[in-house]
Amino acid sequence: MPVNTIPPVDLVRQYKLISEEVDRAVLEVVRSGRYIGGEVVKDFEEQLAKYVGSAHCIGCNSGTDALYLALRALNIGAGDEVITTPFTFIATTETVSLVGAKPVFVDIERDTLNMDVGAIEAAITPQTKAIIPVHLFGQPVNMARLMDIAQKHNLYVIEDCAQSTGAKWEEDLTGNIGHVGCFSFFPTKNLGTCGDGGAVTTNDPAIAETIKVIKEHGSAQRYYHDVVGINSRLDSIQAAILRVKLSYLDQWNKQRREISQRYHQLLAGIPGIQLPQEIKGGYHVWNQYTILVKNHNNNEKTTRDDLREKLQENGIISMIYYPIPLHLQKVYHNLGYQKGAFSVTEEAANEVLSLPMFPDISPEEQEQVAYALRDYFA
Ligand SMILES: *Cc1c(COP(=O)(O)O)cnc(C)c1O
Repeated sequence: MPVNTIPPVDLVRQYKLISEEVDRAVLEVVRSGRYIGGEVVKDFEEQLAKYVGSAHCIGCNSGTDALYLALRALNIGAGDEVITTPFTFIATTETVSLVGAKPVFVDIERDTLNMDVGAIEAAITPQTKAIIPVHLFGQPVNMARLMDIAQKHNLYVIEDCAQSTGAKWEEDLTGNIGHVGCFSFFPTKNLGTCGDGGAVTTNDPAIAETIKVIKEHGSAQRYYHDVVGINSRLDSIQAAILRVKLSYLDQWNKQRREISQRYHQLLAGIPGIQLPQEIKGGYHVWNQYTILVKNHNNNEKTTRDDLREKLQENGIISMIYYPIPLHLQKVYHNLGYQKGAFSVTEEAANEVLSLPMFPDISPEEQEQVAYALRDYFA
């Protein structure tokens, strides 16, 4: 029997460290009677804009909504194509489909698991309107190269920063490099709240204005509806919690970076696994620490799945992000991609394993993870 379980993320541990501040922030909102909008939301939007370095920030209900709002504001719809990675959470392309546009995939790089920027140009057609780089697991995409391509072909860039709040490409924060940045405050993200939440950042006042209209039922003036909108709000309680947590984000990201360094040291030299690395020019914020486990099995069960079970027997819970690439999902059969279309992605889907990663994991717990991993390969 395992003595103690090491979860992939421990949100209670984090809450306990800042519980007084969080409790006070929540109670203030509850006692104020103002539960939607108000100063708290406005203030958080301003603080996040300042943090990211962008002129505008608009809170919304989720990271998924942030992506949807960005696409709508850029007028992307039927007949348009959007280039992105097949190795991401479904929200990245679900929103492309929801606005009526077509996701077009390019393969990823094995070393970063991010979209292969060098493959973008070959995927551009006269219908291409935008690129959505996803800063997966907190690792920034090479935005210098990507922006060059976007400018050359006159394409919009929507950054999916759901996993990368605080990450940088060179000196710039992710979310402030493309035309629009989309953030998620889902509890397990680097800046996570106690429920759902999201935000959009931009330096373009017209885009910001359109997003505000669409997220409020298509109305700039109450009860006057100019376009078809949705209801997407960052609620006041979540904004109050996020305001507290934003002040800790840099510290937590630093802790994540230290934890990744310790994993690098503890796991160095194990044959059969590839450790994640920070891209040169990037500031990685390690939403996940994801290793690649090379497959040595000829049967159905991959070495990765076998290792995952072994870790679980030892009380270590690891995760698979993501087991099925988007181009092979049932929902996208109509796009016509075949198995083998993106070999790096497909191999990664069979090899990725995300180890326990959260700012307050202890060195002893990391050693326990490393011990179990070494033991498996011994
Ligand atoms: C979490 C996530 C989203 C969606 O965010 P929600 O707040 O859960 O809607 C989008 N893209 C990526 C890459 C994510 O990890």
